[in-house]
Amino acid sequence: MKIYNTLSRKLEEFVPHDKEKVTMYTCGPTVYHYAHIGNLRTYIFEDILEKTLNYIGYNVKRCMNITDVGHLTSDSDSGEDKMLKGAKREHKSVLEIADFYTNEFKKDIEKLNIKWPEIVSKATDNIDMYIKIVKKLLEDNYAYVSGGNVYFNTSKLEDYYKLTNHKIDEMVVGVREGVEEDLSKKSQNDFVLWFTKSKFDSQELKWDSPWGLGYPGWHIECSGISIKNLGEYLDIHCGGIDNIFPHHTNEIAQSEAYLGHKWCNYWIHGEHLNDETGKMSKSNGEFLTLSLLEEKGYNPLDYRFMCLNSSYRKVLVFSYDALNQAHNSYQKLKNKIKSLNKNLNEELNNLKIEEYKNKFKEALENDLNTSLALTVIYDLLKDDINDTTKIYLIEEFDKVLSLDLLKEEVKEIDNDLLEYINSMITKRNEAKQNKDYALADKIRTELNEKGILIKDTREGTIYEIK
Ligand code: AMP
Ligand code: ZN
Repeated sequence: MKIYNTLSRKLEEFVPHDKEKVTMYTCGPTVYHYAHIGNLRTYIFEDILEKTLNYIGYNVKRCMNITDVGHLTSDSDSGEDKMLKGAKREHKSVLEIADFYTNEFKKDIEKLNIKWPEIVSKATDNIDMYIKIVKKLLEDNYAYVSGGNVYFNTSKLEDYYKLTNHKIDEMVVGVREGVEEDLSKKSQNDFVLWFTKSKFDSQELKWDSPWGLGYPGWHIECSGISIKNLGEYLDIHCGGIDNIFPHHTNEIAQSEAYLGHKWCNYWIHGEHLNDETGKMSKSNGEFLTLSLLEEKGYNPLDYRFMCLNSSYRKVLVFSYDALNQAHNSYQKLKNKIKSLNKNLNEELNNLKIEEYKNKFKEALENDLNTSLALTVIYDLLKDDINDTTKIYLIEEFDKVLSLDLLKEEVKEIDNDLLEYINSMITKRNEAKQNKDYALADKIRTELNEKGILIKDTREGTIYEIK
C-alpha cells in the first residue's frame, strides 16, 4: 500500500515492523464539548485506514486516547484547561463533563459506522506513565524545571522540526498566536510536560508528583498512552493536520528522547473540513454536530458518503448543497443495490470477483482513494454479471466503506432502549478489560433475557433485537 507520510512529505510504500501486528495510534477527542463534523471527518479517514489495512491482510492493533485533562485553550500551553472551561460552562464537574461528552462521542462514532478502537484510554488513567517519562527526561537532561513547571528543552534536539517543513520562526506558537510569552521557558518553543503552576489555579484534577501537586501537559498524554499500549516502535500515528504542530512535533520530541531511538515510521494526517467562513472550531461557540444534521433529516451515513467522495488529503468545504448532493447520490446507490435480486443463489463469477477485488484494492492502496473505490461499485453495478456475484462483492467492499450498502432500512428503535443497550455494552467491555468475566457474563445474560443478543466481532460488539 502507498500512503502519504508527513514525515518524508512523500507517498511511501507501507512496511510495518510486524505484519501480524500493525500498531496504529490516533489522537482522540478532548471531551469538553460535542465533536464537530470536522473532527468526525478525521475519525472517518482513520477508520478507512484501519479497515483498509485489515482488508489487505494486516492485523491492526489500534489505540486512541480520550483527553480529559491538560489540553489548554491554546496548544502552546497557555490559557485555561478546556475541560475546566466546559465544566464551568455547564456548572458541572470536569468528570461529569468528560463522561457525558465521551458518551456522546461514542454515539457519533457508532452512527457513522466507525469501529471503536481496540484500546481506548483516558488521559487521567495514565498519570504514572507520564511521571515515569518526565522523570527520565529530567535525568537525561532533555527537560528542566522552571517556575514550578517541567518543560521539555527543544534546543537539545537537532531535528525538533522534522515533521514540519516550516521555518523555525513561523513555528513559535506563542508568538504566532499572539499569546503572552511564558517567561519560565528557556525558549518559547519549549513545552510543558508537567504543570504545577498555571494562571488558572482552579484546575480541578491534580496529582502528586516529584515536582509537586499538578497535572500533565496535553502532548505527554499521547506519548505515554501510545508507548504503554503499543510499545516502543509504532507503525502509524494519525490525526488532523492541525495536530502536526505543535502536538505531534512535541510527541516525537519527548517520545524519541525518552526511548533513545526513532519512534514512529508513518505520520498520516487528514485535511480539515471547513465551513464556508473558514475553519470549523469547537471553541467558536456555534458549530456543526452530527445530531444537528440528524435533526435536519440527514442520515449520518450521508455525511460519511460525502467524506468518502473526497480525498482525505484535500480540504473539504461543508455546505448543505454538498450534503444534499451526497444524500441524493447515496440514496440512488442504495436503491440500485436494493433492486438486485438477493434470492437467486447463482454461481459466483470468480474471474469477475478477482477483477473487481483487485480494482477496489488498488484504489485504496493508492493513498486511500475512496472516491475511486466507490466508482468500482458503480462499474460493478453496470456490468453484465449475475446479481449474486454483485451482492457478494458489495458485501466485501462494505467491510471497508461501512456505508450499510446492503442493509434494508431498519425499524426505529426507541431511544431509551438504545441508550440502555449501549451503556450495558460499555459496562461489559469495561468488565472484560478488567478481566471481570463473571460480570461480563452477567450483563450478557441480562440483555439476553430482554431479547437482546450481543455478539463480539472484529469490528466491536454488535447486537440484535429478537
Ligand atoms: P480535538 O477534539 O479538538 O482534540 O480534535 C480531535 C481530532 O479532530 C484531531 O485529530 C484534530 O486534528 C481533528 N480536527 C480538528 N478540527 C478539524 C477540522 N476542522 N476538520 C477535520 N479534523 C479536525
Ligand atoms: Zn494526541
